[in-house]
Parts: sequence; C-alpha cells; structure tokens
Amino acid sequence: MQDRAAIVARLREIAQLLEIHGGNRYKARAFARGARAIEATREPLGKLIEEKRLIDIPGIGHALARQIEELYTTGRSELLESLQKGLPSAVVELSQIAGIGLHALRTLHEELGIGTLDDLRRAAEEGRLRTVKGFGEKKEKKLLESIEKYEHYEAKRPSILLAEGLSLADSLIDELSVLPDVDSVTTVGSLRRGMELSADVDLLVVSKHPKEAIAAVAKSPRAARVERTDDESCRLRLPDGTRVDVNACTPRDEGRMRIVTTGPKTHLDALGDLSRTKSHDEEGIYRELGWPYVPPEAREAAVLGESYDDLVTEDDVRGFTHCHSTWSDGRHTIEQMARAAEKRGASFITITDHSAAAHYAGGLDVERLKRQWDEIDEVQERVKIRILKGTEADILADGAIDWPDRVLERLDVVIASIHARFRQDEEKMTQRLLRAMRVPVFKIWGHPLGRLVRSRPPIPCRVEEVLDALAASPGGGAIEINGDPHRLDLEPKWVRAARERELPFVLSVDAHSMPELGNVRYATLLARRAGVRKAEVLNARSATAFAKAVKPSARGGRRAA
Ligand SMILES: [Zn+2]
Ligand SMILES: [Zn+2]
Repeated sequence: MQDRAAIVARLREIAQLLEIHGGNRYKARAFARGARAIEATREPLGKLIEEKRLIDIPGIGHALARQIEELYTTGRSELLESLQKGLPSAVVELSQIAGIGLHALRTLHEELGIGTLDDLRRAAEEGRLRTVKGFGEKKEKKLLESIEKYEHYEAKRPSILLAEGLSLADSLIDELSVLPDVDSVTTVGSLRRGMELSADVDLLVVSKHPKEAIAAVAKSPRAARVERTDDESCRLRLPDGTRVDVNACTPRDEGRMRIVTTGPKTHLDALGDLSRTKSHDEEGIYRELGWPYVPPEAREAAVLGESYDDLVTEDDVRGFTHCHSTWSDGRHTIEQMARAAEKRGASFITITDHSAAAHYAGGLDVERLKRQWDEIDEVQERVKIRILKGTEADILADGAIDWPDRVLERLDVVIASIHARFRQDEEKMTQRLLRAMRVPVFKIWGHPLGRLVRSRPPIPCRVEEVLDALAASPGGGAIEINGDPHRLDLEPKWVRAARERELPFVLSVDAHSMPELGNVRYATLLARRAGVRKAEVLNARSATAFAKAVKPSARGGRRAA
C-alpha cells in the first residue's frame, strides 16, 4: 500500500479502534499523532522506510514505524485485523450511536451479521434485534431513536476541521480521478470556501458520461456504504461516518455547477438565475452576469460589483511570522525553522518564543532571551533568510505585557497574546485588553480571541472597543490572523471590523515545528474570507519594510515615561 493517504487512514482507524476497545489510551493517541506526522511529512514514504528514517520523525517511535512499514510493504496490518476481528465493518461509526457498546456490537455481528448502520437500522425496524439475548422490544425501540438522532443531528453537525477536510478531499480526489469515465474531480462546498468547520466533503466530478462516472464513484472501496445515488449524484459514508457528497456534470456545465455546489445559498440568491448562462467556466459566468469574479472564499460575504482581484494570496506572504523553536515549546531548532522557511521561499522569519509567564511552555526570562539572541546571530551568519528576534509575550491578568520596557524596545517583533486566565468576565477582560493595546510599543495582537475551533469559545470582551484602542494606541499595532487549524483566530466578522478601522494584519503560522509553516495556507483562506487585500498585510511586504513597520520602538518619540 504505497498511497500515503490510505496509510494515514488505516493508522487513524487503528487509533479509533484502540480507543473503542478502551485499552491503552496512550497507545491510541500515539497512533493518532503518528497519522498526523505521516500526513505532514513531505518526503516519499518509500524513501523514509528504505533509509530507516521513519523514527527520525517526531511522534514516530519504533513500534509505530514497524506498523507503517507493514502497511507499506504488505498493504495489511495484523494489529488492525485483530482489532476488527469479530466486529462489524463500520464499528467506528456504530460505536457513536448512544446505547450500544462494543460487547453488544460483537453479539449483533455474530448473530445477525450486522456490519453497517444500515444493517442495524433494518434489523431494528424489522423487529429482529429483540430475538437476540440482551435485547428486548423496548431496547430495540430506543436504539432506533438513537440511530435517527445520530443521522439527523450528529452526523450532520459540522465537525470536520478545515485542515483535515482539505487533506481528506485531496486523498479522495487522488483515488476518484483515476476511475473510468471521470475526467476531473475538485473540492466544492464549504471546504472550498475555507470554512473552519464542515459537515461533509463535497466533490464535483466532470465527465462526458456523468451517469457512468457516478456509478463508478459509488463502487469506490473507500466508502463503507452508499446512502443514496441517482444519475447525477451520490452520497457516500466513509468507515468513520464522514459524509461525502459527489455531484457529476458534463464539461459544458462545469462552471455553473462549480458555482452552485460551492454556494453559499445567500450568494447564489444574489447572483440570480444561472440556467441561461453559456460559459463553461466560473469566471465567464460572472462576466456574463455583469459582475467581477468573486473567489470562493469571499462568496460568503460578497458584495457584488466589488473587485476581489487584489485579495491576499498565499504567494503574497513573504515572511513566516509567529514561529516557536526548541527555546520554548517548539519541536525544531532556530536553524531548522529558518532553513525550512528558506526552503519554502520566504525572505524572513520571526522567532517568537514564549515569555516567562508561560512557564508551562518553557517561556524565556531575560537571561535566556539574551542567549537566544546570540544563537540567532550565529545562525544568521549561516542562512540567507533574515531572522527577526521576537517574542510571543503574555498579556498578563492586569493587561501588562510580560517584559520590561527596556527588553521590548530591543526586540524586532512583539506578539502579545493571552494564554491564561481565560475565565475573567467581560468587563475585566475588556479592561485587560484595553490596557495591553495602549502599551506604547507596536504589538501584534496574537490569536486575539483565544478560541479553539472545536473546544473553546472566544473570550468574552467588547471586541470593537479593543480594536478602537489598538487603532488609537500611541504604539500602534496589527491584528494576527492565526493559521493554526485548531485556532483560525480572528474570525472573519471581527477581521472585517478591524479592516473598517484600517488596522493592518499579519498572516501567521503559529508554527511549533517545520511542517506547521504550512499553516500559512489556512491563515490565507481565513483572511480571504474576510476580504483582506494584499496591501493590508504586513508580512506581504519585504523583510526590510516588515521590520520597519513592526519595530516595537519605532514610535519611540511618543513613548510614555
Ligand atoms: Zn500563543
Ligand atoms: Zn504561539
């Protein structure tokens, strides 16, 4: 099995099954981490295996390396097979149904041959469950309700992270585009619009024979089951329950279908009737309708008639900002980070490790910061990329920034972020941020509202007031658009509010390892959703211009005593 995506999928399945079996949770997490690590490596797996270098990848130990080798060379995994033994094929999805445990699933598989959610629903509807020991009529009815609830609510809830969804879509595209009658496959829907969470993966297949193409897609071995299918579309479920909607169209209908399947509805309503358009591509259709083209990410809040030609692109970004190293909680050294950034074509990188208050993350004190500067100076002599000396300083509970003024002045870049005391009430939090924004040095407000896409709501504060304070601050400042796929912070509506105040932006990677420099992709998508133009992005400028714009002491004359 030489397909990286397929190996990653198997590793994830092993992690999920270990979790369901309830044995060693540490081991389950190790497999999940290993899957992510393999996904993030850029080198061919074959080469890594041949040169015995899998174990050099952080997060991959000897046991995991052996599993990956086994999958790669034999296409199978004894561990996976032993975990699946005696269980329904869709065990991962089935175990998400309330009221049914592993033991019950095993019995149902043994006695009724239940493999999928469909099998389970049918058995319950036909009253066959009650014939199994341990199940009665009452339990059968309850289970049917749970299945309904799962299908109507849980399975439709947007829960696919942007980064995971895009990589899943890529691997499905690789697999589906080689099928007979399939000319091309592309991602559409909310993933194409760069939404932080999606309920499903939407794909568009272009084919001279859409019906035959759909028939081929419906037989894909990746699908655990096909929920429905007709001449132009089908809905698949992957083994983990992820829904994949596939539409097919002819080449002459491609432009219209790309617009329709990308959505969102509000934008389609604004565009009006597309049925009489003749163009085969999206740009042509917008032209026919008399509007400038709107890129997919901007469609959610598009103003028809406005030009989006100068929206910031990933290629515009010339410097990686917000990078951690082994000096705090990063996995790679300053030199490794700098060389990785250089390889990606950047002209500068900011090393911004944590400040002392973030002791749990190895935050630096003044002494260590100075030693870090020495190391940066040494590395700078060996690399071409410009390395800026920075900090990600904590905004303390009272709004002070976690460095003495004399240190702030000597730094090249200051990112100011909240990492602790998230639970202050709105008033306290607003005052804390107002004070931080008013500090008379230039600061970049890091992951501003501290939200985590799946698990932490934005901090409570009066955002517009804080933005006003930053805009009026004697030191000045910029807003970070954080591309960590779990953060994606600040949200588009607040980015728009910052744009109204003419605040500049920094598209940051918040990288704790070399692969995470790739987060620039997600930061860019988020910025484009909010309509951010290239001219508004500080790290789309040259190294010199960026350094000048963000220099903390640049407004020295107006510094408070
Ligand atoms: Zn941070
Ligand atoms: Zn950080």
